[in-house]
Amino acid sequence: MNISAKHHFRAYTPAPITREQIDRAEILFGGLHWRAERVVEAVFENMGYRARALPAATRDDLMTGRELADIGQCCPTSFTTGNLANFLRAEAERIGPAAVADRYVYVTAGSCGACRFGQYHQSYELALRNMGLEAFRLFLIDQKKPDQGAAEGGGLDINMPLTIGAVWAILCTDVLQGLEYRTRPYEVQAGQTDAVVGDCVELLHEAFRKRPYRGKKWGTLAWHMSTGYFINVLREVFRRFDVIEVDRLRVKPIVKITGEFYLQTVEGDPNYNIHRWLESEGAEVYPAAIAVWLDYLIRCEVQKLEDKVGVEKGARAKLAALRGAQRLFRWSFDRMRAALGDIPFEMPDQYELRRLAAPYFHHRLSGGEGDMLVGKALWTHKKKKAHMICELSPYACMPNTMSIGAMAGVTGKYPDLLYAPIEIKGDAEVHALSRCQMILTEAKKRAIREFVEVMERTGLTPEEAKPLIDAHPRMNRATYRIPQTGIAAGMAANTLLQLAGARGTRKAA
Ligand code: SF4
Repeated sequence: MNISAKHHFRAYTPAPITREQIDRAEILFGGLHWRAERVVEAVFENMGYRARALPAATRDDLMTGRELADIGQCCPTSFTTGNLANFLRAEAERIGPAAVADRYVYVTAGSCGACRFGQYHQSYELALRNMGLEAFRLFLIDQKKPDQGAAEGGGLDINMPLTIGAVWAILCTDVLQGLEYRTRPYEVQAGQTDAVVGDCVELLHEAFRKRPYRGKKWGTLAWHMSTGYFINVLREVFRRFDVIEVDRLRVKPIVKITGEFYLQTVEGDPNYNIHRWLESEGAEVYPAAIAVWLDYLIRCEVQKLEDKVGVEKGARAKLAALRGAQRLFRWSFDRMRAALGDIPFEMPDQYELRRLAAPYFHHRLSGGEGDMLVGKALWTHKKKKAHMICELSPYACMPNTMSIGAMAGVTGKYPDLLYAPIEIKGDAEVHALSRCQMILTEAKKRAIREFVEVMERTGLTPEEAKPLIDAHPRMNRATYRIPQTGIAAGMAANTLLQLAGARGTRKAA
């Protein structure tokens, strides 16, 4: 037989799964932060499945991923491959490989494109083969098809209620994460924010588990867009945050996290626990909302349609419809943010990010976050949203390497933009964190300088500000909003500006 005919490439296809088989099985998934994963579990449950997020990935998972799949792959692929492999290996030892293939399936996002993301499932397949678990089934959710239909065998239906439910779970937990990170660095009683967040995630879990069924097609989308169901739950979340007392006069640098999707999203070993580490070093972290990535995916589709206008029949109408859908998506996010007092950071406009990045990075260069990394760094800097950008760049990641190259041009033009590109290999923590610490030291000095300038501008010292805050006890609550003025980035400086504004208004009155 002709060798090439015998060994030609074939894309991974899972064995069929029936409804009876999936009822016996548990759906595994992962790769998000813990809040989103917990609520997505409820979305699956609401659709009649049993689901479990994999445990947070560890350094041990990285080693297993490298050992079982391609050693040269980017570190997020190694982390996620090893994470699945180690879970299944432990289960195989406990119940045997045949039972593992029967009792578990794995669901993950699939893609194609310029980077490894299009080949994750091939790494998983290779690892499973190397472990003798070829019969285990992986299913891919196409990010661009919310209504993909039933997988072969009819057991797993990736339909609109499931996909929209997962997107809404992400939006709700994004805004919750935003509120949490604007609160914890200033909490008076250590640990209180974490306790409240834990309760709120369970509240959201329960709400998504009991989500009413509103049909399989567009009716469900219309209901999610218009209902007050999730907004009411988020209002209850906001009420629970009200017990947290904060001291916003602590001067802290704000560090915006950007970088590759997986590394900026998860919180744990894959990014050296950078969120908690930065907080422990005295910073406020501005986390990366997953919604921004979803908005970017819509923008990529808009860009493709823009090219077809005047060339393909109906392209103009499709473009208008997609732009409308994008506006509705952003409106839904804003509605949820408003339910949390507009305290979480807003979602940057994709077309503004594209415009800002344009001189340095072409928006057609896809793969990873494309031009968004450059756009987000400039947006954050120019609008004074943070004192420093920490870009988490995976070892062996092509798109991030390009973005770091482009950022050399940006920092040349904006030398005052504090930018820390951190290469993440998974096993060089001291090196990465010490590099971050160098820039963080400068960011701390900048936050202090900014605070002193605002003291001079407002004529208020912290000693004078404290009684003014105490006279308005609402200002000591986590639910009180200090607006980002655009004059200063830091919470303490903006608090002084807010007090000075209120004092000025009273004097004028
Ligand atoms: S963006 Fe980079 S790290 Fe992420 S999948 Fe693609 S190549 Fe890997």
